[in-house]
Amino acid sequence: MTRILAITNQKGGVGKTTTAVNLAASLVELGRRVLLVDLDPQGNATMGSGIDKRALSRTVYQVLLGQAQGHEVIQTSPRGGYDLLPANRELAGAEVEMVGLKQRETRLKDCLRSLADHYDVILIDCPPALNLLTVNALVAAQAVLIPMQCEYFALEGLSDLVNTVRKVKAGLNPGIEIAGLLRVMYDPRNTLAQQVSEQLKRHFGSKVFDTVIPRNVRLAEAPSHGLAALAYDRGSKGAQAYLRLAEEFIARSGMKEGA
Ligand code: ADP
Ligand code: MG
Repeated sequence: MTRILAITNQKGGVGKTTTAVNLAASLVELGRRVLLVDLDPQGNATMGSGIDKRALSRTVYQVLLGQAQGHEVIQTSPRGGYDLLPANRELAGAEVEMVGLKQRETRLKDCLRSLADHYDVILIDCPPALNLLTVNALVAAQAVLIPMQCEYFALEGLSDLVNTVRKVKAGLNPGIEIAGLLRVMYDPRNTLAQQVSEQLKRHFGSKVFDTVIPRNVRLAEAPSHGLAALAYDRGSKGAQAYLRLAEEFIARSGMKEGA
């Protein structure tokens, strides 16, 4: 069965896109067929996958509005080995234009239904907001991966997100669950980070991934080359951490070897 995972956190700059791109590339490395859906008008996942968002005539925007089929828009990341449903700033308009449409919350889900057979995992990179695009991701997904920095206000933002997931679960997507919380940009020497990390484990227990993503400059450099860290600097701590995350994700989701 295809696993559909929304990577979400309404805060910006918390590592959603970095996680989406690097988890996608790592899952490919482990033999999985992966589709990455860029659902952020900033198009960072698109650029970070080596595809120029400015050169696209069709993106996920046309797919959501019913003006194109998913398979017509999908491209393959040249060095990542995964497929990409790209986005650019045009997607910012979707929020408004979808409001008047029928089934506006299930548009992405309906689109992914016809694509799912081709992939083992579909990752959705969400925008930094709890808006209609994010709701589309939460309705389409089976589970949510929440990247977060272990900072003082991190837990506060988390309760809004957990409430939104609860609402979606009570209404449009009863099957949704939290796949896990991922600690990113982690500095083990930082006492506050250690404390927040402990708090997180007390609150969420096994929902916190064992894998921790360290702060690593290679992860920040790779997107400007249109690469995942695995292709940019395979041996870097960041690339290796995301590879371990992919292994942990596969083990947790009960996906069999090569399945
Ligand atoms: P979001 O998608 O949540 O807005 P990004 O993934 O774009 O967040 O990350 C925000 C910034 O932090 C980017 O410049 C990115 O390169 C950098 N970054 C993300 N994760 C790491 C990390 N583990 N180490 C160093 N820099 C990181
Ligand atoms: Mg992003």
